[in-house]
Amino acid sequence: MNRPLIIILLLAMLALGWWRLHPAEDGVRRTRLLMGTVVEIVAQGADAQDAVDAAFAEMVRLEKLLSRHVPESDVSRISASETGGEVTPETAQVIALGLEIAAKSGGAFDLTLGRLKSLWKIEDEAPTIPSQSDITKALAGIGPHALQLDGQLVRKRQPQLLIDLGGIAKGFIVDRAVDVLKAHGIASAAVNAGGDMYLLGSKAARPWRIGIQHPRSADAILATVEVSDRAVVTSGDYERYFERDGVRYHHIFDPKTGQPARRCQSVTIIADSVALGDALATAVFVLGPQQGLELLKQFPQTEGLIVAADDTLHKSPGWDHYEAAP
Ligand code: ADP
Ligand code: MG
Repeated sequence: MNRPLIIILLLAMLALGWWRLHPAEDGVRRTRLLMGTVVEIVAQGADAQDAVDAAFAEMVRLEKLLSRHVPESDVSRISASETGGEVTPETAQVIALGLEIAAKSGGAFDLTLGRLKSLWKIEDEAPTIPSQSDITKALAGIGPHALQLDGQLVRKRQPQLLIDLGGIAKGFIVDRAVDVLKAHGIASAAVNAGGDMYLLGSKAARPWRIGIQHPRSADAILATVEVSDRAVVTSGDYERYFERDGVRYHHIFDPKTGQPARRCQSVTIIADSVALGDALATAVFVLGPQQGLELLKQFPQTEGLIVAADDTLHKSPGWDHYEAAP
């Protein structure tokens, strides 16, 4: 078994143990390993047990469509085909939003980085730094124009293109889990998939309070926000990375260089949907604080908190509206 998986399993066991000690007051708190991370759902309401079961089932179903690790997923099928093909409406929706963010971010967000991601193997037991010539090959012909969507038809401009929805799919899946909870009449819930969160309604008649972790100090809180019916999504360079000669190599890539993006340590986005927050957190991480805040201006009701590479903090104009005293 590889090291990250063992760590994740240990975390899951810890979380489960914690849940036994502290059952949610009048509701349900459950965790499951999905999408390569620990997913936790807390829900209050009469039908909470069934609602949470159904939400997890929906997440399992969607992961089978969107994961590049599932051979028969939409993503694997399109990647294996030389030209593309028909996908399910759900996958088309994820790709449509991904392509919109790709265009608006000038290609900083990119759904066609599959070969680059495979090359870097950031999450492997013994990751290596790829050669420049391999990076150049992995970047050849990729970019926002390499993929087209027409209804449910995906077209590849380049036969070897590998799709990777890793920067957006988790968010989309959390949104769908929340839809299932709502359909079961749940009015108060929190879904957290490794930093991709949605906070539904309120908690004990108050907004949900969310602590945002400091990117360089695991037990320090960078900021606390109070939100209701909002997504809070954080992308950072501190969860999946390795270090070589004092340099940190992490899993968010700058498509211009093929290297891990260097301008930020972490980006937190507050948005209406987790899918949008997820894609924007990744895009802003690549763009850095100045261009990143410019990008956010295109999205109403969307705020961001950025820790730049030089440790400086940057906030979008409306961020303070959500920030609470720690
Ligand atoms: P996490 O998955 O840890 O929450 P992100 O949402 O930032 O973090 O997604 C990182 C993942 O997104 C990477 O593992 C990779 O699959 C994909 N990715 C990396 N760089 C980019 C990029 N520039 N554009 C779109 N997706 C990316
Ligand atoms: Mg993301």
